[in-house]
Amino acid sequence: MKLTMEDKELIEEAKQVILKSKQIKLVDTASMGSSLLTSNGNLFSGVCMGFYCGIGSCAEYQAIGSMVSNGENEIKIIVAISENGNIHPPCGKCREMINQVCKGNKDTFVIVSKNKKIKLKELLPLAWECSIEK
Ligand SMILES: [Zn+2]
Repeated sequence: MKLTMEDKELIEEAKQVILKSKQIKLVDTASMGSSLLTSNGNLFSGVCMGFYCGIGSCAEYQAIGSMVSNGENEIKIIVAISENGNIHPPCGKCREMINQVCKGNKDTFVIVSKNKKIKLKELLPLAWECSIEK
C-alpha cells in the first residue's frame, strides 16, 4: 500500500527524534529513530540505545515503551528510520513485541520503505500466539 501524508509526517517525526537525541552524544545510540501513531491518534517516538557489554535496545522498543507508559497499546502505524534516511522494517524481536503488546496490532501498518507500508501480519505470518494483554 502507498504512503499517505500521515505516514510521511510519521517518517519526519522519526527523523526529528534522532536529531534531538544526537545532542547527548552517546556511543551507538540514536543511529535509528522510530515513531508510531496509536489508534487513539497519539504519537510516540524513541531512538535505539546501544552501550558496551551488549546493553541496548531498538528504537521501536523505546517508542513502544513510551506508548505503554502513557496507557496505550494499539498501534495504527509504525516506522523506523536510520540517521542516513533509510527506512527499515522492524527486526524479528520488534515484530513480536508489536504483536504481543496488543492483540489488535496484527493490523498495524508498518512502513517498510519510502513508498510502501504493509500490515504486521504480513511481516509476521507465523507469530507466536500469545499476548501480554490480559
Ligand atoms: Zn528491533
